[in-house]
Amino acid sequence: MTPKIIYLLMLSFLAASCSKNSTTSTTTPTTNTTTPIVSATVPDVYKKIYGATSITSDGTYITIKSNGAPDHKSSYYATSNALYDNFSGTTFGGYNFAKNPNSIAEKSYIFKIPVAPKVATNHLPTPLGAIGVSLNGVPFFNQYAGPNQPLTGEIVSFDRYWGHPAPTGQYHYHVEPLYLTTIKVTKSSLLGFLLDGFPVYGPEENGALVDNSKLDAYHGHTSVTSDFPSGIYHYHITNTDPYINGSGYYGTPGTVSQ
Ligand SMILES: [Zn+2]
Ligand SMILES: [Zn+2]
Repeated sequence: MTPKIIYLLMLSFLAASCSKNSTTSTTTPTTNTTTPIVSATVPDVYKKIYGATSITSDGTYITIKSNGAPDHKSSYYATSNALYDNFSGTTFGGYNFAKNPNSIAEKSYIFKIPVAPKVATNHLPTPLGAIGVSLNGVPFFNQYAGPNQPLTGEIVSFDRYWGHPAPTGQYHYHVEPLYLTTIKVTKSSLLGFLLDGFPVYGPEENGALVDNSKLDAYHGHTSVTSDFPSGIYHYHITNTDPYINGSGYYGTPGTVSQ
């Protein structure tokens, strides 16, 4: 064999081992996530918020800290970021994706949610901005665009996993967080909590799609769930407006700062 052929053989070996390595690493997508610091008094269910940087409890409130940046690919990361996604195609609702001018910025969210959520006497409307936290630490937003416009014009800017950033860089989900429901957990899983402490579930329950007609004005109902075997009020994310929450919080909300 000439040195050139040996060299080519070595190259193909290298190429083969590279592709093998990259296959292995794509099957373990947890490499860029760090386990949150969790205090001993935090009930297990909150530990599912794997994207938090810390989760603590004072017995009344669970405090969840997060930088709000998604752990999945997005068209809104800088092209230099490993999670940058050169996405073109169909997004939520079958619309062709059209990027908005914003980009993802890390924030310092502090969500304080009641550990023993209770139904409120007066149901407060949800504000614009973060109304809850999802498993990967990305906030949930309500069904409106600012200033209280319907979401219609914004849906085209939802990325591959149906989130997008605000002008201030806050990445958020108004609808089903597709990375969570299709890759990390399932469509019937716990996906996070709203600020009132009530849990948020995906668009399915017991293998069937939940539609808005099965939910109350706040977009939830009470039943047992795998995380709460004695039953709890919970929201469901559905694929039609108002998506996550209806006319306000079912319970009394805690606070969020960033
Ligand atoms: Zn938005
Ligand atoms: Zn349910």
